Amino acid sequence: MNFDFNTANRILFGEGALKEIGTIARQFGNKAVIVAGGDPKSIENLKEILSNSEIEFVIFKAAGEPTTRLVEEAIRLAKENSSQFVIGLGGGSAIDIAKAISVMLTNPGELLDYLEVVGKNRAIDLPAAPMIAVPTTSGTGSEVTRNAVLAVPEKKVKVSMRSAYILPRVALVDPELTYGLPPRLTANTGMDALTQVLEPYVSLKANSMVDMFCREGMKRAARSLEKAYHDGSDRQARIDMSWTSLLGGLSLANAGLGAVHGFAGPIGGMFHAPHGAICASLLAPVTAMNVKALALRAPGEPALERYHEIAKILTGKDSASIKDGIDWLQSLKDALEIPGLSEYGIAEENFSEIIDKALVASSMRGNPIQLQREELEVILREAL
Ligand SMILES: [Zn+2]
Repeated sequence: MNFDFNTANRILFGEGALKEIGTIARQFGNKAVIVAGGDPKSIENLKEILSNSEIEFVIFKAAGEPTTRLVEEAIRLAKENSSQFVIGLGGGSAIDIAKAISVMLTNPGELLDYLEVVGKNRAIDLPAAPMIAVPTTSGTGSEVTRNAVLAVPEKKVKVSMRSAYILPRVALVDPELTYGLPPRLTANTGMDALTQVLEPYVSLKANSMVDMFCREGMKRAARSLEKAYHDGSDRQARIDMSWTSLLGGLSLANAGLGAVHGFAGPIGGMFHAPHGAICASLLAPVTAMNVKALALRAPGEPALERYHEIAKILTGKDSASIKDGIDWLQSLKDALEIPGLSEYGIAEENFSEIIDKALVASSMRGNPIQLQREELEVILREAL
């Protein structure tokens, strides 16, 4: 048994945890830049707590996708105000912008220097400025991951900035902040969270530490995602989903993902579709194809037995077969009323480009078996 596990310095979890942010922030200085997504009430609460702790701050509103242009603007604001640390409050986008600022506050040069594909992909040499990540959705787990995903609309791609230095110094997960999340966002982000505890469990880079998180996360999402969708005020369901999301971030950052995310990256760059909805459409077809390919080409691989365990965890039945697990995933997507990929304008004629890009996506390297082009095509067709 061996593993290498890396995460935020401190993880604070619980209803009402936001109240602690003044004390936490004080240790990083008295000048903050806040990247704010989330609902206005959470932002007001944050402002009040910081003011009471005598912390000065400027606010950058994160509306929509974190494009490189938007991020450059945010970096400028932080530098002009001599910000000492960064707070990202919101969904994955706000936290990703905050991560990019924290890197650029200490590292020389321009944002583009540090981006893959569209930039120089220069290594981040210096520790980033301290950053506190406060998620207001339950999906990405971005509060404990070491990359920031930025969009480059001109080139129709999403690119990552990656480094262990990008890990937030503090992940503050307060499920209360997700109570107001509307059903659609709850469903989409929740399916992302579920995918992010399922893919690392069968990943080629799976390890004992992460396995434990994945099992717990799948159990919680299975019992609570639909509940949170139908009744946003169900506190236990919200806590379960915040916990699953955090576990997903911890897992993917340390064990990688698989073909669902291998596809989701390129599709997200090419089409305007929510990341979680893309994952939701792909999860059952990818699982079915992985199982089929494993049975055909690598029947002795442990991943097959793991898919069996997944089926038992998701259905809550010891007698469940792998097929029961796949059916369960499909019916959850239906119960959450998530449309297929064709809803976002994706059609057969796009398959070839999507597959070209997916084959070289970093997440694809974690998939338990290498899938062939024809197999990837079948997955996309089923996800339409
Ligand atoms: Zn994801």
